[in-house]
Amino acid sequence: MKTLLITGANRGIGLEFCKQYAADGWRVLACCRDPGKADELNRLAARHPDLIKLHALDITNHAQIEQLAKTLSGESIDLLLNNAGIYPAADKHGFGHTDYAEWMAAFNINTMAPLKMVETFVEQIARSKLKLIVTITSQMGSMDDNSSGGSYLYRSSKAAANMVVKSLSVDLKAQGITSVAFNPGWVKTDMGGPNAMIEVEQSVADMRKVIAGLTLADSGKFIGNDGVVIPW
Ligand code: NDP
Repeated sequence: MKTLLITGANRGIGLEFCKQYAADGWRVLACCRDPGKADELNRLAARHPDLIKLHALDITNHAQIEQLAKTLSGESIDLLLNNAGIYPAADKHGFGHTDYAEWMAAFNINTMAPLKMVETFVEQIARSKLKLIVTITSQMGSMDDNSSGGSYLYRSSKAAANMVVKSLSVDLKAQGITSVAFNPGWVKTDMGGPNAMIEVEQSVADMRKVIAGLTLADSGKFIGNDGVVIPW
């Protein structure tokens, strides 16, 4: 049986990953800030009591990440999915109105937390069968794709996350661990909004298909939900 550890599991893309992997018979270690308020995730876990376990985790709280790793020390984690992220509201105000405190918060969540998760869970990942780390970044973190400017906080935090993914692919290669960055597409979630291009079910199904075919040779790639490599 394969095991997924995922952050931001209570809504949006994270919740859908939990649904689809559990339906496929995976064990799901579903992390979210407040399990007591994660109604939909709790209902899902009640339908799969042997597969889905909820864990409280604010990914900016490094002590909590370390405590969770101790709790889960006996696990083999086939797939770590760094999914949780924010689009800082301050980004809407544009050039000349940068909120530097919020930028720091975006870096904490979008950039530093994925690395902290890997540093803390690397042993459990290394002892698993699949040894996969997938970090959901964004096409908005692509230098090549940036023709519209703006979104300084989100773009820079996701571009930096892409670099984290790349360095991990080099540093963890000897352990047989694959590290990739994914753009999920523009997805109808709270973040993506109602005008987004893809339903969350489709985006996650697409990404799962690509994830299922990943090998160590793919490590260090930035991939779209359609499986096509995205220029950095
Ligand atoms: P949502 O806004 O719907 O969900 C974000 C999730 O991240 C929530 O579960 C939220 O938890 C969690 N989260 C935020 N901050 C923290 C934190 N400090 N600790 C733990 N969890 C946290 O976003 P999506 O599902 O759309 O996005 C998922 C990922 O996909 C993100 O990384 C996003 O940047 C990326 N992405 C999304 C796109 C889209 O079109 N939707 C496009 C490109 C990339 P809580 O409920 O507690 O706030």
